[in-house]
Amino acid sequence: MIQAMTGHGGFSEYLYRFRCKENPSCVCESGVEETVLHVLLDCPRFGKQRYDFEKSIGARLEEEKLYLLLDSKITLIQVYAPTTDATDEDNELFYEQLETALKHLNPHNIILVQGDFNAKIGEGKVSDIVGSFGLGKRNDRGDRLLQFCEEHGLIISNTHFKQPPRRLYTWKSPLHSLKKIVRNQIDYILINRRYRNSLTSVKTYPGADIGSDHNPVVASLRCNMKILKPK
Ligand SMILES: [Zn+2]
Repeated sequence: MIQAMTGHGGFSEYLYRFRCKENPSCVCESGVEETVLHVLLDCPRFGKQRYDFEKSIGARLEEEKLYLLLDSKITLIQVYAPTTDATDEDNELFYEQLETALKHLNPHNIILVQGDFNAKIGEGKVSDIVGSFGLGKRNDRGDRLLQFCEEHGLIISNTHFKQPPRRLYTWKSPLHSLKKIVRNQIDYILINRRYRNSLTSVKTYPGADIGSDHNPVVASLRCNMKILKPK
């Protein structure tokens, strides 16, 4: 559903925009774009699921109604942490601000904190916070991010989903060359622990044509729906 609201997700139309796919068509019919709304509302591939779902909620799925169906509220905080050139004080200020923002949120909601943390979390599992798909060696900023996650019950979702090592980096430094590899994983999607199983995939898309030295990190989220009471 978050994909329906934001248009983000592993759908052909979206991947085509980033030139990660050759065309935006749905496999159900050439010329019909596989958008989020197509999949949710029209695509015959999901006719059975749609029928069952409509029966279970007692209403027809319509674009205008989608937001009414969300059972959990989702808060998304987009961040940009100071770079490694910034002072530690600036970095602390960033985490203080983030902490203030989190304090005002209902912990029963889905909370996503995502963006450029300018921190290397590194390889190797750390409790349930860092999964097996970190990259490189953790630096000081990575330690700080880890500490923040520990204090606030957040997990670093993109380190939990298997991807080949060559796809784990999210940023390529201007200093990167064939001789010197400077490709780091510094962008993350954090989610509050109680909702970690809502994420069905988190992937990096290297080579996306988005005019950035970062790669998009795309998460798919499954949300519960509520029953609409007939009026
Ligand atoms: Zn289709």
